Amino acid sequence: MKITDLKCAVLGQNPIIRITTDAGISGFAEVEASKSYLKPHVLFYQRFIIGEDPTNVERVMLKIRRLGSFKPWGSAVSAIEMALWDLAGKAAGLPVYRLLGGKVRDRVRVYNGGVRSGMTDYSPAAYADDMARMKAATEGFTIIKQGVGFHSPMPGHVPDFFYGQQDGSLARRGPLTERGLKHVIACVEAMKNVLGDEIGLALDCGPGWMVPDAIRLAKALEPLNVMWLEDLITGDYVPYVSADLYREVTHGTSTPIHTGEQIYLRQNFQDLIEKHAVNIIGPDPCDIGGIAELKWVAEYADLHSILIAPHGVGNGLLGLAALVQVAATLPHNYIAFEYPVGNPEWWYDIVEGLPDPIVKDGFIEVWDRPGMGVELNARAARKYLPAGDEDFFD
Ligand SMILES: [Mg+2]
Repeated sequence: MKITDLKCAVLGQNPIIRITTDAGISGFAEVEASKSYLKPHVLFYQRFIIGEDPTNVERVMLKIRRLGSFKPWGSAVSAIEMALWDLAGKAAGLPVYRLLGGKVRDRVRVYNGGVRSGMTDYSPAAYADDMARMKAATEGFTIIKQGVGFHSPMPGHVPDFFYGQQDGSLARRGPLTERGLKHVIACVEAMKNVLGDEIGLALDCGPGWMVPDAIRLAKALEPLNVMWLEDLITGDYVPYVSADLYREVTHGTSTPIHTGEQIYLRQNFQDLIEKHAVNIIGPDPCDIGGIAELKWVAEYADLHSILIAPHGVGNGLLGLAALVQVAATLPHNYIAFEYPVGNPEWWYDIVEGLPDPIVKDGFIEVWDRPGMGVELNARAARKYLPAGDEDFFD
């Protein structure tokens, strides 16, 4: 079997990848919704993979892996990897989890990082209300993640939150005032009052914190037993890791410290893992270099007693399928992956093969169909193809 083409079309906001073959079967994958501009970058890899046997996934990846980088520039390589696994599974008549080593679990735990109803202010009371709504969600999530500090509009809503400049950009970073620090702690206490010990609370915090503030926050939250503090120092769209700074924070507190969603390839996790710089890593299969890369990093982390909670909120429904396949195979250090939602809502009409409901009691049953086990319904999806991409399914 040989690859005959690599196609990409933006469906809604997600770039969708299709790898076609001379055997008449195709592999599909999806790039995060926030990266609709990546289509030309995806197509750049055509020249490297056409003519290759897609079932030799690693051999194809060796041709393109070094032509990627930290988020967002690892996404195309990662999506190609997942489309190759979809193809390899379909060609073998096996679900992808079987090709990755087989199932460790029959159902995979997910956490709520993207099922949201919207917040109007960022007071402790508003955080408590929002948490009460999420606690009642029909998915029955057992872990909920919430944004605070620099990973939320909070700095713009709380006067004198920090000593840095409030310019509305995502690049906010700086020392917190005492008022800012107390505000974050009060919001976390309010959320924990709602959740009790029934549902785990994870906090996405940055990036942007200074090490002393990060340690003060983590120590103050120790009695509350939060699941983790995510991306305090570096994180989303930061093209480096700063493992030594994370190590200072992690070793200064008993609150679990988490990072890794933007990091590309195992080599860039090496310091975090070998130096025990964090307690939990959160790679995204659509940024790290794909699901086999994520599996390798998970195994290496497990050797070092570091846990894993993969990121994935923007990965769409094809990304959800890939997360289910790989999460089924991860070692015992697996906590849960971040549940992606279909957006716009019509995504649920064009993807076939997902369970209904998808999440039950906070878990997803692992399915057994070949490849990733979901299919784009070309007839239903065609009307959403943008001008110029009408031939995507042909
Ligand atoms: Mg995050």
